[in-house]
Amino acid sequence: MRRLPLVLACWLCVAVGLGCATAAPWPGPVPPAVGADPARVAADVAWLADDAREGRGIGSEGLAAAAAYLAEGFREAGLEPGSPTGPGRAPGDPQARSYLQDFEIPVAIRIAEARLSLGGVAFERGRDFDALLNSADLEGELEVVFAGYGISDEESGWDDYAGLEVEGRAVLVLDARPADDGSPLSGVRGAGFLSRAYKLLNARRHGAAALLLVPSAADVEGLPGGAGAQLANPSTASSGIAAVALSREAATRVLPDLEALQAARDAGAAPAAVRTRARLELAVRVEREQGEVSNVVGVLPGSDPALAGESVVVGAHYDHLGRGEFGSLTPGRRGEIHNGADDNASGSAGLLALARAFAAGPPPRRSLVLVGFTAEEAGLIGSAHYVRQPARGIEDTVAMVNLDMIGRLEDGPLTVFGAETSPRFRSLVEKAAEGAAVEPTFELGANGPSDQTSFHTADVPVLFFFTGTHPQYHTPDDDPERVDAEGTARVLTVVERVTRALLDADERPELVRAAASRSAAPGGGPGYGPYLGTVPAFGGPPVAGVRLSGVTAGSPAERAGLRGGDVIVGYGGAPVRSLEEYAALLFASRAGQRVEITVERDGEQLGFVATLGQRR
Ligand SMILES: [Zn+2]
Repeated sequence: MRRLPLVLACWLCVAVGLGCATAAPWPGPVPPAVGADPARVAADVAWLADDAREGRGIGSEGLAAAAAYLAEGFREAGLEPGSPTGPGRAPGDPQARSYLQDFEIPVAIRIAEARLSLGGVAFERGRDFDALLNSADLEGELEVVFAGYGISDEESGWDDYAGLEVEGRAVLVLDARPADDGSPLSGVRGAGFLSRAYKLLNARRHGAAALLLVPSAADVEGLPGGAGAQLANPSTASSGIAAVALSREAATRVLPDLEALQAARDAGAAPAAVRTRARLELAVRVEREQGEVSNVVGVLPGSDPALAGESVVVGAHYDHLGRGEFGSLTPGRRGEIHNGADDNASGSAGLLALARAFAAGPPPRRSLVLVGFTAEEAGLIGSAHYVRQPARGIEDTVAMVNLDMIGRLEDGPLTVFGAETSPRFRSLVEKAAEGAAVEPTFELGANGPSDQTSFHTADVPVLFFFTGTHPQYHTPDDDPERVDAEGTARVLTVVERVTRALLDADERPELVRAAASRSAAPGGGPGYGPYLGTVPAFGGPPVAGVRLSGVTAGSPAERAGLRGGDVIVGYGGAPVRSLEEYAALLFASRAGQRVEITVERDGEQLGFVATLGQRR
């Protein structure tokens, strides 16, 4: 991408109303770098991404070994232990004793039990049926009611539950939407009703005890929705209703006239109050295993008494996908080690190189905090935990620099996200890149899908360095030999210079809260559908609802009065239990709609009304 002249860039930000810092020059020169040794970088990447680390999956020994490796690197470089919590530290004790900030999270999830039979005749698990990972636990006998596509849409008037008695029963629901292209549920808006989270929420809202998800096409083999081979993100929340996937063949055994019922519904006939004569016996139990994981925290205290109380955080996640239990882009290769050399052994090796460089160089005026984040792949969990329990106060954290995938520079540009969060950041990076044979390009994305988001929603200016995606991303082929260590060392020169400048500047950088984000979060980023501007918090103690880590500046959510810390428990009159449900409800709304949102705040339930905007 051609780099735009500065003045034009600012005009562009203003024209499209994006919250962009009015760019200003970084005052004075940027300090030189000690620099990184490409051979050490390559060695650290090779160790962290070795098969022996098993892809550094959540709860694995390989992940724990990687944490110890980072801690040892910090210790060797002369950084102080910085864990705000962890072993040997009494509450309020100012002196950290460890580099490891330990905390508990779900590390594995599995279907512990799933049995289904009809009139005493058992179905075969895996072939005829399987439970979904977000199923609630249930054991009992149920009547089955056919509930079409499981959709209730006020706007179009389509309601599969109209006139049905489903309280305490199992609803059999088609895993699609009405086929008719003329139907008000076709097109992009209707896509919101395809989501399984929406169908579960709507069934629960109507009082059903279980949902049986069935393929809509009569000739489909196997189970819908990847049931039985589900990607097991340990932080998958329960949907609050039993959830089972059935094959079409098994569904026809439950409801012999399924095809006729579906055809009638497609033709617009009212939902037929059809119930099974035989009773369904269902038992489902989902097991979540908790385990200990650690952020790795090292501190280089500042030398200037006036500024040492302030800090700059440089962070990188060191976890990856293990054997592809979830997040893999090659589901067919699950079980293979996803080495994660670029994602993110490269950033972790970068932390070690910076530890060595800063310990060897002149002491900084402010304090430097280096953090290896855990559980980024499961939802920015480690960085969110750090922000809640920081080594140095978040309000005194003057900037956060994130390194995620800096291993594939080759002869491409270095992408820098977040410069819009402080007026002088762009000029600072450009100055730091002078003479480093690195071409920075700038993208909006302070609230993008990596750890800087946890900091920016806590009002910290951020910069995120990234050398670009590639075909090996999130596959078993992201291997050390593909990492361009020499390029990574060049990137680290820029990062070191930027960080030194931030540590030694007289003034702390001014914050500009990013208005438009490329967040993957519902209601946050560009794309289709209504815009609300909430930024969900990841990790932390589980809640029934969606905890917000913040709202985007100038967004409908901010105007309505929502704020970070709120837990959304109701949307448009529907109770909300999880992010998936919230996303489904939001997706099914439309720009300009006034929506009632119920939150829990300081132990109280409060109601707000927001007018949804249009996503750009
Ligand atoms: Zn990553």
